[in-house]
Amino acid sequence: MNKKIALLPGDGIGPEVVAEARRVLDAVADRFGCEIHFVEGLIGGIAMDRTGSPFPPETIELCLRSDAILLGAVGGPRWDDPSAKLRPEQGLLRLRKELGLFANLRPVRVHPALAASSPLRAELLEGVDLLVVRELTSGIYFGERGRRNDSNDEQAYDTMIYSVSEIENIVRLAARLARSRRGKLTSVDKANVLEVSRLWRTTADRILKDEFPDIDAEHLLVDAASMHLIQRPADFDVVVTGNLFGDILTDEASVLAGSMGLLPSASVGESGPGLYEPIHGSAPDIAGCSIANPIGMILSAAMMCAESLRWPEAASCIESAVDHVIRSGARTLDIRRKGEPVVGTTEMGGRIADAAKSIDVATSAA
Ligand code: NAD
Repeated sequence: MNKKIALLPGDGIGPEVVAEARRVLDAVADRFGCEIHFVEGLIGGIAMDRTGSPFPPETIELCLRSDAILLGAVGGPRWDDPSAKLRPEQGLLRLRKELGLFANLRPVRVHPALAASSPLRAELLEGVDLLVVRELTSGIYFGERGRRNDSNDEQAYDTMIYSVSEIENIVRLAARLARSRRGKLTSVDKANVLEVSRLWRTTADRILKDEFPDIDAEHLLVDAASMHLIQRPADFDVVVTGNLFGDILTDEASVLAGSMGLLPSASVGESGPGLYEPIHGSAPDIAGCSIANPIGMILSAAMMCAESLRWPEAASCIESAVDHVIRSGARTLDIRRKGEPVVGTTEMGGRIADAAKSIDVATSAA
């Protein structure tokens, strides 16, 4: 196997965690006798500084010519001026749009050894294994926006738009994923208030009744869903929702796992390369300190192996290595409990890479 991966480290802790994912992938490639070629590209704030654009044409080209894309994170206070025309996040939104990556898959599992790192009681976390499927290329993040002056009172507006076909696509994908898991699907909207959500609900209902009668489906309002995610997280299997609600609910769900730094994601479309990135941002408060948790990034690389590279052995090997290292007690600052020793970003990455070189995949998975 010979694969080309676009590496987009981005800003803040992005380069620190991407370096560790690369180290783990190199270890796995060595072990299985495969070749992975990494080519780095610019995105986000660093791309604005160097080229004037958060998503320069060379990066688009690189992504289109690659088998998959690994991305760290974008953004930071240096580029946060609210009146600026260009923002690092536009690079990410354009990348998703250009590649047609309409679905973001965010699995949330609670590692038993880390249950105490979560602010929730351990008994609530038993059996938590959910997947949030977030629509990624439409909704309020892509609708018409602007400012206007109404009787000298400045207003700003953002527009949430979904079409029937966009809702059908994401609900079908989520229902197929539910079928391959525990067969349960929760569709989240705000149909008691928003017209967009009423279209979302009737469309989701039709698709689920006509095409997926075997799926146990329910609808929840987003406010209730945010409460139930904390009160009864183990009841959820697949959750499907729009761009804005998914963005917020997945940060909330990350609390279940113990830290944002643990959670991976995959963004996929109908065809072309997939994009793999941790759910966290650029964490400017800890950037450059070598204390960021690289596990979310490393597990994103595992998702890349499974989904885009069709290389399940590598995915299992990485997941088993992460599981082994967590069980062995290695803790970055975000997941350590009082009194426990702390390892830094490179030490955590190194231990996972070492484990990936030799771990017995069949017997070590959680
Ligand atoms: P953030 O996710 O960067 O950080 C939130 C908190 O979690 C911070 O305290 C941070 O230190 C901690 N954290 C995050 N990742 C961690 C890790 N791997 N290990 C340990 N701790 C970790 O969110 P924020 O502070 O709201 O945003 C910072 C910047 O990131 C902003 O510019 C925002 O726009 C951007 N952002 C980018 C993405 C992306 O690139 N996909 C996503 C979210 C936010």
